[in-house]
Amino acid sequence: MRDYAREALDVLEKEGASYGDIRIIDDIVEEISIKNGVPSVSTHNREGFGVRVIVDGAWGFSASPNINVDEIIRVARTACAVGKASARLKKEAVRLAPEHPNRDKWTSNYLINPFSIPIDKKLELLLSADKIIREDPRIAVSTGSLSFWKEHQLFMSTQGADIEQTIIRSGGGISATAVDKETGEIQTRSYPGVHNGQYIQMGWEAIESFDLVGNAERVRDEAIALLSAEQCPQGEMDIIIGGEQLALQIHESLGHPTELDRVLGMEANYAGTSFLTTEKLGNFKYGSDIVNIVGDGTAPNGLATIGYDDDGVRSKRWFLVKDGIFSGYLTNRELAHIIGQTESMGCNRADGWWSLPMIRMTNISLLPGDWELQDLISNIENGIFVNTNKRWSIDQKRLNFQFTTEIGWLIENGKLTKMVKNATYQGITPQFWGSCDAICNENHWTLWGVNNCGKGQPGQRAEMSHGASPARFRKIKVGLG
Ligand SMILES: [Zn+2]
Repeated sequence: MRDYAREALDVLEKEGASYGDIRIIDDIVEEISIKNGVPSVSTHNREGFGVRVIVDGAWGFSASPNINVDEIIRVARTACAVGKASARLKKEAVRLAPEHPNRDKWTSNYLINPFSIPIDKKLELLLSADKIIREDPRIAVSTGSLSFWKEHQLFMSTQGADIEQTIIRSGGGISATAVDKETGEIQTRSYPGVHNGQYIQMGWEAIESFDLVGNAERVRDEAIALLSAEQCPQGEMDIIIGGEQLALQIHESLGHPTELDRVLGMEANYAGTSFLTTEKLGNFKYGSDIVNIVGDGTAPNGLATIGYDDDGVRSKRWFLVKDGIFSGYLTNRELAHIIGQTESMGCNRADGWWSLPMIRMTNISLLPGDWELQDLISNIENGIFVNTNKRWSIDQKRLNFQFTTEIGWLIENGKLTKMVKNATYQGITPQFWGSCDAICNENHWTLWGVNNCGKGQPGQRAEMSHGASPARFRKIKVGLG
């Protein structure tokens, strides 16, 4: 493969490129799901390469699934032709932040290769959970899924980078949807994770640790209990947000608005632009003094944990919010200089060999505080504990939001009491984070995976994790309306 890559880099240099790189990738994806006991299994391999080049100061890119010398030379020439054509329209030449030409081999951590576990065993696990969930006739839909991904990538650049990376990630979950035939009420409870399961950069051992079968009864019973639970109250109260829900809150209210291309108006699809404009860097009060949020491409087992990004930049950990102050952006080599930085934070990632990399969220995590959950609850007089996302909306600047969770419990005089359904809270991003007055300690902290973040046009998918422990927010508007 290295010989092939060198052929491409030779072509780029002969064509006068000031920079060029090639990524040769092969990956395998296995998806196993069941719905009411009916299984569906799919496995696919995706092999190919993408060549990216700066020629006459503009980007060119071309890609192909056919890995052979003739095709690599053809694609490299096409990438240069695209760059030369784009250069006629450029406003200014692309400038890349410097990066050491890294030469390394990097492999993610795992104990048991999930592809070594027979599909029958995987199906059996899901069917065992499904059987428990469907024991009660009030359950109309039972789902279960498992998903595994292994990617091998070789990255080489005209600057001398030579990086080989192998990543394995595993994920899955179960859900139960209960229906009250008389009232038409429908309620769903799922486990574990932010949305449709938990995903993590680990092997089969992750799936075993979820204990899907051991949680099936609780998931079923909570879905049924939600049918007759009281509606979430309306008004202003103190809330505790569980880690699974807080992970999505971080994703939507800090992750997307710190993508520097979005801030600069170069990207607005799916998630709009951003209120975190560049004059706010280093001085804007994003949250209360105890709010510390890091970007971290090195977090153990994070979905976005990599040795190096698709610019060949080594992964880093840095503050996006430090002691409540907005302190950093997600950047790549191309845009770092616009905010006066001389190095990229390593956030350039592509969705496979066929895509041009762009700024994507790395793992973004709320650092733990020093509270026990029990103490967080015990000094709330009248509040609500909410967890697991059901639906959400946020405006195009990422300021006004509303989240509805799968489940909530009232907190009355310092104790968790009744379950409530359709638990909803709303806020304006900086005021909301400004009202955070307590965060649970590291014993309650988990990295929650988001496996389906969409961005760009044509759309690209990326995966990342958000670490969070339950946190308390004072005087938040809850209930619908
Ligand atoms: Zn997203």
